Amino acid sequence: MRRPPAMLRRCWWLIVLLALAAMAAPLAAQAPHPPHYTVQPGDTLADLAERAGSTVAELQRLNNLRDPRALYPGQPLVLPHPAALTWPAHRVGQDETWLTLARRAGLPWDEAARANRALHPGALTLGQRLHLPPLAAGARAASPPVTVTRVALAAHHGLSTWQVRRLNPLPRYLDDPVMLPSVEPASLITSVSVSPQPVLRGQTAAIRVTTGITATCDVVYLERVEPCWGDGFAHLALVGLSALLEPGRHPVEVRVQSAESHESLSVPLHVTAGDYGYSRINLPADRQVLLDPALSQEERVKVAALRPLRSAERLWEYPFLLPVEASVSSHYGSRRSYGYGFTSYHAGTDFRAHTGTPISAPASGVVVLAEPLVVRGNAIIIDHGQGVVTGYWHLARIDVRVGQRVAQGERLGTIGNTGLSTGPHLHWELWINGVAVNPLQWLTDFSEGLITPASARE
Ligand SMILES: [Zn+2]
Repeated sequence: MRRPPAMLRRCWWLIVLLALAAMAAPLAAQAPHPPHYTVQPGDTLADLAERAGSTVAELQRLNNLRDPRALYPGQPLVLPHPAALTWPAHRVGQDETWLTLARRAGLPWDEAARANRALHPGALTLGQRLHLPPLAAGARAASPPVTVTRVALAAHHGLSTWQVRRLNPLPRYLDDPVMLPSVEPASLITSVSVSPQPVLRGQTAAIRVTTGITATCDVVYLERVEPCWGDGFAHLALVGLSALLEPGRHPVEVRVQSAESHESLSVPLHVTAGDYGYSRINLPADRQVLLDPALSQEERVKVAALRPLRSAERLWEYPFLLPVEASVSSHYGSRRSYGYGFTSYHAGTDFRAHTGTPISAPASGVVVLAEPLVVRGNAIIIDHGQGVVTGYWHLARIDVRVGQRVAQGERLGTIGNTGLSTGPHLHWELWINGVAVNPLQWLTDFSEGLITPASARE
């Protein structure tokens, strides 16, 4: 057997050391990033992922988290786009693109798209929620030939060069738009926003329209026409979507009419299926008789006449309050069976509580029905104005009368077990332009578009 050369024999430990160093180098390069964020009480990984332009899976991988629910306040987290967490939310408006938004945010467009996890940076949806650095206000995009310098642009539009530079701090590439201070809009419609987008079937979508001059507006969707409500400049239309609606893209046509002209615009509403469960109701023998359609015919006609009220005065405030201090026992939208097939769905939200628990008005309105009904038991219906109506069934006591104006939080009656009911509970229903929708959505911030102070004229 040949012996290794003398030099190799002498230096074997050096070779081992070099090999170890070579193995350790990639490890050092992969050293974890310093944490960027400290978990606050109430944070969830899904929420943080959305705000940080990331995904739950990515945050789990970056932070070695096995269980995405096991977060604790004070926990340090590594984030892929740490700045995005502090960026405010922006709802994509009419004619906004990644290029114009990134310009106004002072970012390269691909960086803005990456921070928002945009898989198809070409496509933005009206009403889509993005997180961007504060946007330069009052700017509009223009596309002059690429050869036009910023100095020439300023001269052409009667602006100072610093005004142009402030709005366009980055070098311009071939197809980049140039931002210029906005001028008085020539078009009737100055903005349209849709929220939430996408929207679950069974929910309410708010369409907010602003116009540069006094105008009226309506929206056309699913073969119906609904008016917008507003002060002539800021308009709001509510779209109530049935829980049985076919999911998909449903166009909403916004039609605006002023004294001199009219304009219309089609906005896609993305409706998703939602996850509604199934429930089987077993009625006690003595109440089976209430399933007889003949018995409920009279009250069905009565309720159907009040459901689609569209009183002109808006009495409701937003968000709604819970009508009762109790837990939800059956959610809106679940498919229902009273013994044979899932033929109907639950059109309201049920709260279970002891008989006598007080029920209060979730929002201000006028009582339009307060009487005992066969199936719904002791019932109350409140008209909140502008197409918003609520109903309360199975009460033990009714403490209001028809025509009475109630304030938000005012007592209506108490929980009971009257009518087609299998135990003391409140069935709460909300109709938007006559369509039963999920009332719980109105307790939370589902749409900035709903708050339209008169000062919102822009
Ligand atoms: Zn119910």
